[in-house]
Amino acid sequence: MPRVLAFLLLVTLAFANPRLGLHEGFTRLVFDLPEGSHYRLVEREGRLVLELEAALPAADVRVGSPELLGYKVEGKIVELRPRPGVRVKAFVLKGTAPGTYRLVLDFQKAPLPVAKKPDPPKPVVVLDPGHGGPDPGATHAFPGLGLLMEKRITLDVALRVKRILEAKGIRVILTRSTDTDLAPPTESDLWKRKLADLKKRALMADPKKTLFVSIHVNAAPRPARGVETYFLGRAADPEALRLAVWENGGGAVGQRLTRETETLTDKVLKDLLAQANLAFSEELAGKIEARLSRAAGSPDRGVHSAPLYVLRYARIPAVLVEVGFINHPKEGRALATPAHRQAVAEGIAEGILQFLAGGAYAFK
Ligand SMILES: [Zn+2]
Repeated sequence: MPRVLAFLLLVTLAFANPRLGLHEGFTRLVFDLPEGSHYRLVEREGRLVLELEAALPAADVRVGSPELLGYKVEGKIVELRPRPGVRVKAFVLKGTAPGTYRLVLDFQKAPLPVAKKPDPPKPVVVLDPGHGGPDPGATHAFPGLGLLMEKRITLDVALRVKRILEAKGIRVILTRSTDTDLAPPTESDLWKRKLADLKKRALMADPKKTLFVSIHVNAAPRPARGVETYFLGRAADPEALRLAVWENGGGAVGQRLTRETETLTDKVLKDLLAQANLAFSEELAGKIEARLSRAAGSPDRGVHSAPLYVLRYARIPAVLVEVGFINHPKEGRALATPAHRQAVAEGIAEGILQFLAGGAYAFK
């Protein structure tokens, strides 16, 4: 007789309808199932269905909790009706009676997507190694050193600045990374070549970037020494104008591009947003100038404005830095050495980092 009782008890436990638990944040259904029997939780035609191997007494239960509307049992099939946006987690536990196990279904509202705080935009620095390809820029021959070319110095310095900035987690884009200019290779007209080349570089100073630094090497009719940094504007003195004509392509090409840039600069200066951007450019120029002068041990020749074509389209802080004079007996020779170029690169990078740390770049 006790044997029969145990059997009945088992049957009652194993084949009863699920037990319902209402909890803060979730609704739980617990099924007591015969040990060794299988279950499957499937989605069928948009309905959530629990398939069992053992039949349960028919039932149609309205739960009405925040997570579960109800469920319906028809033999071995249990149709579950969670509310929209509710997730179901299924797991098994040891049975409370011998020969059974518990299948637990937890209905829980999917957590609301947490609005992620947007990360501060990662700075993107554009470095423009001046000249390249058929355009060597300034050149000078020292006895025993061969021909020094501006285009080689600017590229080497830019690559060094890039490495330093990237080590600080800053993205760096180079306008060129090899010995080439950006003009179409088939273009033979000098004016068109220079225009296309400078325009392509200039257009990279778009609002998706943080700041733009064009790197150049100076050359003077009379030996001079030191570093200078420029932002876009009218030339305040003949020296700045001379430099603009030179960096805008030199000769007739440089003069024409300089005149065009002057006309545009006058327009730019009437625009309030552009004015604000120029103020940031001047600030960036000041930081690079000071750090570069110190790091390179070169005289600080100051920050100047000049109608430089490569800065004319900039919608972000943009400057042109002259890292020294290629034809100065001491400075020119120094620019031929990796050690001095590294010092120059460190100075420029420090200036950029100091500017970025100021947070002013967020302005666009
Ligand atoms: Zn140059």
